Amino acid sequence: MESPVSRIADLIRRTDGFLVSSHANPDGDAVGSTVALGHILAHMGKDFALYNRSGLPKQYDWLTLPGPVHSTLAGAEANWIFVLDCGTQNRVGEELYRIMGTRPIANVDHHLGNPNFGQFNWVDESYAAVAAMLADLADELEIPLTGPLAEAIYLGVATDTGFFTFDNTSPEVLELAARLLRLGLNPGRINAKIRNQWGVNRFRLWGESFATTELFFGGQVAVAFVTQGMLERTGSSAADCEEIVNMLRRLRGSRAAVILREEPDGGYKFSLRSTGADNVQTVAALFGGGGHRNAAGGTINADILTAKERLVEALGESLGLV
Ligand code: 5GP
Ligand code: MN
Repeated sequence: MESPVSRIADLIRRTDGFLVSSHANPDGDAVGSTVALGHILAHMGKDFALYNRSGLPKQYDWLTLPGPVHSTLAGAEANWIFVLDCGTQNRVGEELYRIMGTRPIANVDHHLGNPNFGQFNWVDESYAAVAAMLADLADELEIPLTGPLAEAIYLGVATDTGFFTFDNTSPEVLELAARLLRLGLNPGRINAKIRNQWGVNRFRLWGESFATTELFFGGQVAVAFVTQGMLERTGSSAADCEEIVNMLRRLRGSRAAVILREEPDGGYKFSLRSTGADNVQTVAALFGGGGHRNAAGGTINADILTAKERLVEALGESLGLV
């Protein structure tokens, strides 16, 4: 049987007119894979449009883009829609979700429990990042992993592996990073571009959020939160909350970390982190969310006290702490 990567390469060779999309509030892998696929399609001489409901986050404005990242679908005609790095199809945002039934979808993803919502599905949990899947696609299409394509791929794999510190840091992803360096990517420069992007507002926000930290089960579960008030006071946005949860994992003895972020219209978006066999994906799934074994998230429509209580209770049960 043909491998999924060669089938998707065939799809690109024989069709034209693509919309490339990923989840709203995109992280490094969502942005990196969107931009990487754009470079691949540009290299193949294809028509394409890049789309993200949230646009391109400011911290990634140093990327060399193959075309603009549209935040609305107006004028973005397509025969095929690529949905990248989305464990469920509604994560693309309402505007695109509404037209999804009208075009065939190529679903390229690495999340546990992706329901294969596309007409074409390449879902493989063994990849550390969707950007690494696209590196294999570039190889299949004989496109060199250099220049802006290499930077976009590195962005995806570096951020999804926590800069090669999480359990998904496989030999394969390290070999991919090594290949990118051999082909000319400068590690000091690219890491500085990715990491040194914070505004002082983020420090003020993190200060306020860290002050809310609570420990449960003798310090094995750490929980902090961010309110709309904190975001407003410090001039911050949802993107500034990324990584707070990873900092909570630094607490000695913590097995799971939780950050809750208040949504503009109420309710809380939560992020969970763990290590090794401690599975937080199943906990996120209890609340209709999802993700990976050691990094998952979702939304709870409740006030902060209730949301915290329900998550702590679920984590306690799942980790065998009660
Ligand atoms: P984060 O906590 O950084 O937002 O996300 C961690 C992981 O969980 C990511 O792989 C992300 O795709 C997944 N995730 C976060 N929020 C949701 C959600 O609401 N639904 C689903 N299905 N997955 C989510
Ligand atoms: Mn990813």
